[in-house]
Amino acid sequence: MSTPIHIIGAGLAGSEAAWQAAEAGAQVVLHEMRPQKLTEAHLTGGFAELVCSNSFRSDDHEHNAVGLLHEEMRRCGSLIMRIADAHKLPAGGALAVDRVGFSNAVTAAVRAHPNIVVEFGEVTGLPPEDWTSVVIATGPLTSRPLAEAIQSLTGEAELAFFDAIAPIVHGESIDMDIAWKQSRYDKAGPGGTGADYLNCPMDEAQYNRFVDALLTGEKHVFHQWENVPYFDGCLPVEVMAERGRDTLRWGPLKPVGLTNPRQPDKKPYAIVQLRQDNALGTLWNMVGFQTKLKYGRQAEIFRLIPGLENAQFARLGGLHHNTFLNSPRVLDRQLRLKAQPRLRFAGQITGVEGYVESAAIGLIAGRMAAAEVRGESVEPPGPTTALGALIDHITGGHIAAEGGPGPRSFQPMNINFGLLPPVTVTKPEGSGRWRGPDKSMAKRKAMSDRALADIAGWA
Ligand SMILES: Cc1cc2nc3c(=O)[nH]c(=O)nc-3n(C[C@H](O)[C@H](O)[C@H](O)COP(=O)(O)OP(=O)(O)OC[C@H]3O[C@@H](n4cnc5c(N)ncnc54)[C@H](O)[C@@H]3O)c2cc1C
Repeated sequence: MSTPIHIIGAGLAGSEAAWQAAEAGAQVVLHEMRPQKLTEAHLTGGFAELVCSNSFRSDDHEHNAVGLLHEEMRRCGSLIMRIADAHKLPAGGALAVDRVGFSNAVTAAVRAHPNIVVEFGEVTGLPPEDWTSVVIATGPLTSRPLAEAIQSLTGEAELAFFDAIAPIVHGESIDMDIAWKQSRYDKAGPGGTGADYLNCPMDEAQYNRFVDALLTGEKHVFHQWENVPYFDGCLPVEVMAERGRDTLRWGPLKPVGLTNPRQPDKKPYAIVQLRQDNALGTLWNMVGFQTKLKYGRQAEIFRLIPGLENAQFARLGGLHHNTFLNSPRVLDRQLRLKAQPRLRFAGQITGVEGYVESAAIGLIAGRMAAAEVRGESVEPPGPTTALGALIDHITGGHIAAEGGPGPRSFQPMNINFGLLPPVTVTKPEGSGRWRGPDKSMAKRKAMSDRALADIAGWA
């Protein structure tokens, strides 16, 4: 018999990985701790349990990045997508599923596969040495003993238990007639240019209006189990505002070491900085803006910042329990832990976010593991595809903060078009000017067409 692949966790990623590896002819042992031991969010022993919403978000593959990811996964023979489609509920343009029917069907399909054996029980430490091919897909709520064992390999700084996320803005939506590029004191730092940040200036009235909005904005109340601690130097922006009207001006919004080239003689009262977040330069991270403001209010409040009036957010901020690796530093392009390559990772623990994205990484990891036990190798999908863009985000596309990658610099991410290389679109001759969102819709469609053409070879 060929070397078995041990997959730990039968969630969205582990179920998909097991299916892909088994379909590729590998022998799989799938380990799941539920129902003997539940997580703080799972309620059943079913595989691929959806712990919160029952939506896989937009299913529009022509204009929406997660819809595109759905379509790529379908074309790659995804089990999760096949069963989601079979259990879908009416939800407009979204793909929502009957959560019980969905989980039951995934469980039945995985358990019936002749190449998959399921073993129930928690894996409480590093997998035994004779498990030479392992996929760890234990998710955002990985049980503590296993998480600590992983940390013993990665080092304490490289596995985070909480996610303090600042919003990320699409670069093309930032008003560059207001914002300017400059690093504080023009410092180039390692690998920088001295002009690595985008700066948005505020006068006193704008700053006060912004702080007032932060103070009155509606906040998320944490689930008790999340028990989120505030880290030093990583306070939510609204908590900083509560500590005093000038706290932000002395903290992340300090107006020092920066000169507005349009008004060099006038010192801004405060300055919001955005740091480049991906190698393509299409995404920008709002420095110091981790927050527990409700999503709807975040967009409204952050658009009060000069230069961000029309900001489009690739992701909004948040703060929640999430076990995830500093993947750009610790994983290779095959999703293997550099420190111990027999251990491959999949799902949310790799730093993607969401049901679909987690299953997507499971799909790739399952195929990679199956190829490896055959003595072959599968390259990741190309960067122009949604699947490839996710892999690039977790293994290389992300730009680290000054001083090198750190656990708080790499943030988990949903799929979005900002992760894919841009396209140029031209209007058909004689059809006048672009109107409203037409240009952006045309760009999305062009990116989707390119992605679906490019995934065909990999699929
Ligand atoms: C509270 C909460 C709400 C969320 N809401 C949403 C949402 O609405 N929409 C969305 O898209 N995403 C949501 N997410 C994110 C979502 O969890 C993930 O996107 C997705 O479930 C992750 O898939 P996964 O396969 O990586 O992990 P999971 O689906 O969580 O699967 C991990 C599996 O590993 C098992 N396991 C853990 N440790 C061990 C161990 N030591 N031994 C054996 N088995 C183990 C677990 O029991 C679980 O079955 C939410 C996450 C949380 C925590």
